[in-house]
Amino acid sequence: MNLLDYLPGVPNFPKPGILFRDISPLLANPAAFKEAIAQMDILAQEFNYTHILGIESRGFIFGSALAHHAHKGLALARKPNKLPLATHKEFYGLEYGSDSLEVQQSSLPKNAKVLLIDDVLATGGTLIAANKLMRSAGFEVCGAITLLEISFLNGRQLLDQHGIANKSVLL
Ligand code: AMP
Repeated sequence: MNLLDYLPGVPNFPKPGILFRDISPLLANPAAFKEAIAQMDILAQEFNYTHILGIESRGFIFGSALAHHAHKGLALARKPNKLPLATHKEFYGLEYGSDSLEVQQSSLPKNAKVLLIDDVLATGGTLIAANKLMRSAGFEVCGAITLLEISFLNGRQLLDQHGIANKSVLL
């Protein structure tokens, strides 16, 4: 099974010049979704992690499925003003805009070793913000895993420069 067949590119969404990868066909196919999580788990096993940080929104889908599959804890990095208790916050740039992420301080134990999970690695801005967020909240980050890496944007090189070990299932 070629998982890329289940992640069709949609040209010029959400802005001209962006080839947006639609995860809907993969989620709608149980065998493809299962295979995606199994392959993310194989990569995740190279990290000595205790908890997953799922990044809103599509990182929630893959992060929660992987946490369930691998029997790990899950914390959520959310878009602004969604969390009820005290949070840490980081601003970041996207391939097509800017945003911020928050995590609730109480969402992880102090000794958590965190693996960052998102669907797509594009410029790397989101994962760098998630990494800063975790560190400013006092947590150790083991690395980051995505389902798909958009190679020409060189996000991997940026993550390497920030000392964030990272792997993707698909290039
Ligand atoms: P970046 O911070 O530039 O690495 O962008 C990664 C984040 O933006 C992820 O949360 C993705 O869901 C989303 N994203 C960026 N570019 C794309 C794309 N071409 N297709 C789908 N999602 C994307």
